[in-house]
Amino acid sequence: MLARLTIYGLTEKIIIPIAQIASGEPYGVPPRPEMTAPQLRRTIATACRILANAGLAEDILGHVSARVGTDTILVRCRGPREQGLLLTLDEDVRQVDLDGRGDELESWSVPTELPIHAEILRARPAVDAVVHCHPPAVLAAALAGVELRPVFGAYNIPAARMALDGIPVYPRKILVRRPELGRELVAAMGVAPVCVLSGHGIVTVGSGPHAVEQAVVRALNLGLLARVGVEQARLGGRPADLTPEDIAELPDLGAAFNDLNLWRHHVARLRLTGLELD
Ligand SMILES: [Zn+2]
Repeated sequence: MLARLTIYGLTEKIIIPIAQIASGEPYGVPPRPEMTAPQLRRTIATACRILANAGLAEDILGHVSARVGTDTILVRCRGPREQGLLLTLDEDVRQVDLDGRGDELESWSVPTELPIHAEILRARPAVDAVVHCHPPAVLAAALAGVELRPVFGAYNIPAARMALDGIPVYPRKILVRRPELGRELVAAMGVAPVCVLSGHGIVTVGSGPHAVEQAVVRALNLGLLARVGVEQARLGGRPADLTPEDIAELPDLGAAFNDLNLWRHHVARLRLTGLELD
């Protein structure tokens, strides 16, 4: 069964997979051939390092995945010499199916919260990459009841638009370790590009040939919104929302500017600190 939902100003097909689950039919869309598997593996490993280096993933928790086939993904797994997201290696990114099985796993284990990735990718054919991490500022904002409102504009237009569109919240403070919990999260997220998991972290998604980069930049922007919100609350400020006139003057500078330039900037920051992969 297909349903077309319009939430937060976005329109996207979302599959409600009850019938497919019952029948065991495969989900998903054809593979995206833009990137070879080694390139995508490197991009996912770099994504993990960027998230950690930016303070969105403090230690060993968090993971990034990308769709590579109808029922297969590359996902950051935990290996025998796990050292945390900041030191993710290409070899930590393994190919598995959406149930977390695969010949490639060897001594690596899939994330306990693989259902976050699997259920989003099953339900949303347009999504090609998923980021999950635990940014401290988002946690603080959610626990303090700080609403992530559109209080700034040109300072960061994609982040402002994210706040304008509305950021859904999955209210349960649990480990999303079973498919039915993943589907609860999918339902709370709707077709939004981001979701706050209260008392837990965030999920962001990306689409197209630069899906991983897009999902990472969305995570960075959500982290920024939370930091600004927490700081405003600490200062006792209650800034006004953007006016319609100012919103109308905020251009969309495009994915090449918003996502890829920022991605390259963060790769360069890794290089400066000696953390870029060889
Ligand atoms: Zn988590």
